[in-house]
Amino acid sequence: MTVIEGVVPPGGWHYKQGNDTIRAESFTALLEAVLDYRSANRLDFGNVHEDVLNYICSSFPRQCRGSLNVAVGSKTPTIRNTGNDLIDRIQRWAMKIGGLAHRKVTQAQAEKRSEFCVNCPHNVTWRGGCGTCNSNVERLCAIIRGPLEVTYYKRLMACKLLGHDNRTAIFLDSSLVGMSDSLPESCWRKKNL
Ligand code: SF4
Repeated sequence: MTVIEGVVPPGGWHYKQGNDTIRAESFTALLEAVLDYRSANRLDFGNVHEDVLNYICSSFPRQCRGSLNVAVGSKTPTIRNTGNDLIDRIQRWAMKIGGLAHRKVTQAQAEKRSEFCVNCPHNVTWRGGCGTCNSNVERLCAIIRGPLEVTYYKRLMACKLLGHDNRTAIFLDSSLVGMSDSLPESCWRKKNL
C-alpha cells in the first residue's frame, strides 16, 4: 500500500498520537514530525512509516493505492532510544525514510558516491557497546538496502555530519539523505551526485 503524496488528505497531512494531532505540509514532513514528536516525548520510535500509513489509509481510503494488509505485515523492527547519539540519529533517519526507500540510484552512482565516503574523515564507526542496539540498526539498514552492495562496503561506516549509515545512504535518492552547511566540498552530497 502506498500513500498518494500529490493529493492532500481531508484536514491536511496529519496524524493522531494519543490526544495530540501532529500536522505537517507533506507526507514526508509528517513522517519526520511524528518521529520528532516521539523522540521529544521519549516514546518508542516504533514503525513511524507504517503507523502513519495505516492511519491515513484507514481514515481516508481514497488517499492510498493497494491493500492495507501489506503494511500491517511489515517486518520493520520496533526501535527505542539507545542513549548513543550517533546510533539514535541513524535509527531516526532509517525510520523516517522507511517505506520511501524504494527511491534508489543506479549501482554506478552508488559506487561513485562510496569512493567519496571511504576517503572522508567524517566516515566514522557508529557501533557501540550495546549489541542489541547495533543489530537493530544493522537490520533496519539492511531492510532499506535490500540486496544492494558496493565494492568497498566494508569501509563504509556512518556519516557523523549527516547522521546516516553510509553503506545504505549511497543507494538512496538525494531527497532521502540530509544536507548540512558543514559538509566538506569533497562530499558527494554537496556535489549533487
Ligand atoms: S556523506 Fe559526505 S560528509 Fe558524510 S562521510 Fe560521506 S562524503 Fe563524508
